[in-house]
This record gives sequence, C-alpha cells and structure tokens, in this order.
Amino acid sequence: MRLILLGPPGAGKGTQASAIVEEYAIPHISTGDIFRENIKKGTELGKKAKEYMDKGLLVPDELVISIVEDRLQKEDCKEGFLLDGFPRTLNQGEALDKVLSQMGLKLDRVINLDVEKEILIGRAIGRRICKDCGEVYHIKFTPPKEEGICDKCGGKLHQRDDDTVETVERRIEVYHKQTEPLIDYYREKGLLLDIDGSKDKDSIFEEIAKALGK
Ligand code: ADP
Ligand code: ADP
Ligand code: ZN
Repeated sequence: MRLILLGPPGAGKGTQASAIVEEYAIPHISTGDIFRENIKKGTELGKKAKEYMDKGLLVPDELVISIVEDRLQKEDCKEGFLLDGFPRTLNQGEALDKVLSQMGLKLDRVINLDVEKEILIGRAIGRRICKDCGEVYHIKFTPPKEEGICDKCGGKLHQRDDDTVETVERRIEVYHKQTEPLIDYYREKGLLLDIDGSKDKDSIFEEIAKALGK
C-alpha cells in the first residue's frame, strides 16, 4: 500500500501514521521526523532546516525532495510506504509523481485529515514527545501515567520548539497557502480519502482502515 497522510499541523498525522504502519506493515516516512533527527545530530541539513522550522515556515523544496527520493529507493519501500508530512507543496507533489512514475509505481490513497483551527492549536500546544523513543503524548488527551515521563521507556518528555501558539498559528497559515492546494490536486486524481480528524483517535483509525481495506 502506497499512502500519503495530508493534514494541518496537529491534525493527528503522526498518531494515525503509527497505527496505519503497524496494520499494513509499511515504513513510516515523516519528513518532520527526519529533520528533527538531523537537528539532534547537528548535521548541516539539520542546521539549515531548523532556521525555517523555528519560524513555522516550510523548509525549501530542494532540501526536502531529494531526501524523500532517496528514501523511496530503499529496500523496505518495495511493498509500500506511508508518507507523513510530505508532499507539502504542489511542487513537491509533482516531484513525487515524477519519481514514482520513474519507478513504475502509483499511489493508492491520499488520506486527508480535516480538523478545525481551534482544535489544532489545542492539540499542538499540549503535545509532548519522549526524548528517547519519540512516543507522542498529549497533556490532556493522552497523558503519561507519571507527569513528564514516558510510559514506554521512562525517558523525559519535552515540547517541540515549534509548538508555541505563535508558531502553530503561522504553521496553520502556511498550510492554507502552500499545502491545501494539494487537496484538489489529489481529489482530481481520484485518490483523496476525506476523514473527519476531530473525533477520537481510535474512531479515526477505524474509519481509515475500513476505507483502505486489507
Ligand atoms: P501531527 O503529526 O498532524 O502534527 P500528532 O499526531 O502529533 O499530529 O498529534 C498532535 C497532538 O494531538 C498530539 O499530542 C497527539 O497526542 C494529539 N492527538 C492526536 N490525535 C488526536 C485525537 N484524535 N484526539 C485528541 N488528541 C489527539
Ligand atoms: P506538523 O505537521 O505537526 O506541523 P511536521 O513534523 O510534519 O509537523 O513538520 C515540522 C516542520 O518541519 C514543518 O513546520 C516544516 O518546517 C518542516 N517540514 C516537514 N516536512 C516538510 C516538507 N515536506 N516540506 C517543507 N518543510 C517540511
Ligand atoms: Zn519513551
């Protein structure tokens, strides 16, 4: 299964991605995670990406596209993949089409998680992430058993630098301007699966799984 998860910041892409990749046994490719790993390691790419991410802006296409192109050539993508947070511009969408067609592959579905702005801000501001294993929590909706500590590995939870009210609002604006046009792009190709992302995470996953089949 070759899938894309589309949706504004805080919509629940990462949360649904975890459940989807487990169900369909495909790799989870999150460009946001790739950048954050590079920032942690202090690579050149990480340094460049951080400048944009901290401002709530998109990292330039030329830095993102080649990373995804390389990742898709890896052995584990043979049976499928889930792209989370890519493409985010029409230009990235067209580049993806090109590389997939060169590989003789086609996308199966584009899952569009739709969530209204007030909910998005609350979700992003309350998000906490384990420094060690990457598990995602929410201080209200999915709190850890012990405050600030990961249930899975005991690691410390932290807040993303870009999960402040100001930056989340900027990211939502950027989403409307630069990413939303992809909804029509994929709708016209007959690939779009519209999902109401305001429900609880299990109901959302059930709806996605039902639509995708097995
Ligand atoms: P995205 O990857 O789209 O930015 P995440 O999956 O990281 O979104 O979710 C953002 C925050 O909202 C996280 O703290 C997550 O635990 C929480 N969350 C995700 N899905 C739901 C949901 N359906 N209901 C309530 N909270 C959710
Ligand atoms: P979210 O969906 O919660 O906003 P992500 O983790 O997907 O978060 O992305 C975090 C940041 O990483 C984005 O605000 C942007 O700066 C950068 N980024 C991630 N994916 C892309 C992409 N495909 N193109 C450009 N920038 C990206
Ligand atoms: Zn952990």
